[in-house]
Amino acid sequence: MMDGSARGPGPVGEPTLHLHPLRRCNLACAHCYASSSPHATDRLEPRAALQAIRQAARWGYRRLAISGGEPLLYPWLGELVDMSAGLGMRSAIVTNGLLAGRGDKLAVLKRCDTVAVSIDGLAAAHDALRGRPRALAGVLAALDSMVDAGIHVSVVCGVSRLNASEIEEIAGIASSHGASALQLHVVSPSGRARDSMLSHLLGERGMQELYLVARVLAGLYRESMHVSVDLVHRDVVAALPGLLYGMPVSHAAQRAPAEVLGVLVVEPDGNVNPVCFGFGAAYGLGHLGSAGLAPLWTPWVAGRYERLTALGGQLWERARRREGASLLNPSDVLGQASQGPPVSQAAVRLARPSCVTAADGAY
Ligand code: SF4
Repeated sequence: MMDGSARGPGPVGEPTLHLHPLRRCNLACAHCYASSSPHATDRLEPRAALQAIRQAARWGYRRLAISGGEPLLYPWLGELVDMSAGLGMRSAIVTNGLLAGRGDKLAVLKRCDTVAVSIDGLAAAHDALRGRPRALAGVLAALDSMVDAGIHVSVVCGVSRLNASEIEEIAGIASSHGASALQLHVVSPSGRARDSMLSHLLGERGMQELYLVARVLAGLYRESMHVSVDLVHRDVVAALPGLLYGMPVSHAAQRAPAEVLGVLVVEPDGNVNPVCFGFGAAYGLGHLGSAGLAPLWTPWVAGRYERLTALGGQLWERARRREGASLLNPSDVLGQASQGPPVSQAAVRLARPSCVTAADGAY
């Protein structure tokens, strides 16, 4: 599921548990970072998923973002949403929308704080990316049903060269169907997109144009719909090392996990990662066992956290030297860098000893 999304009302940077309870999907989109499909079988047992939510709330995570695969295919979705509400977490679901108009699904979605629906272009582009004729028509019908049911809906759009010229029309569609937010996410070479979208990814110029279009649309729709794009100028990144985990948070081992790691990701195979789905295994927290998240934190913060901040520090230095693209999505850049050879111990030792406080960036 394309998720840059799922940010409902509330502060940006709110500590979030990204839970991917299953990898199965009713679609097999060309740009899917999770390589989901109807044939994917990885799935969290409900006990493990509920336990992870309970423990994450104890660790200070205030928001639950449920993605997939297609979360509406997870039989225990309602239990996940209800548990997060009972723990005082806000919940957001990211869905492709095709099942969202069904009565039983609407009943679950009504219990969420936000539902993000993917729209990736006008009919031709959206249906082609999704590999399903009339997919957009189905999504729009579901959007109407959700808005009629009083659900707070946002639209998330994965932007590539295939749809970059259609953003203004997509904004018009989102607004006219009652979305309160439009989140533009630049498609990155992750998962299936690594093979099928390489020649369609936005380059530097395309990102600059998207950034400007988003600024204009944000002004145009300021009364009715929040428009955002998940790109940050590298000068901002240079000023806020926490955006790339570029410096360790001071006294990390004594802090609540949510103060150190703003995004905790639980994947359908039980792997737990920092930052984003599919993050490099050398930086991961480990695998959920019968005790859930509990045993994973202390060894991670004492070891691999340093490796993550060394990797972030290298990227941060590039931003400070004004190298590379002028606009970037910090999570995606870190995620791609994490796929390379792990940062060496020598680099970890050389990493800056200075620390930031947890408030120095959206980390
Ligand atoms: S709908 Fe979302 S999860 Fe399903 S294949 Fe498409 S991008 Fe992946």
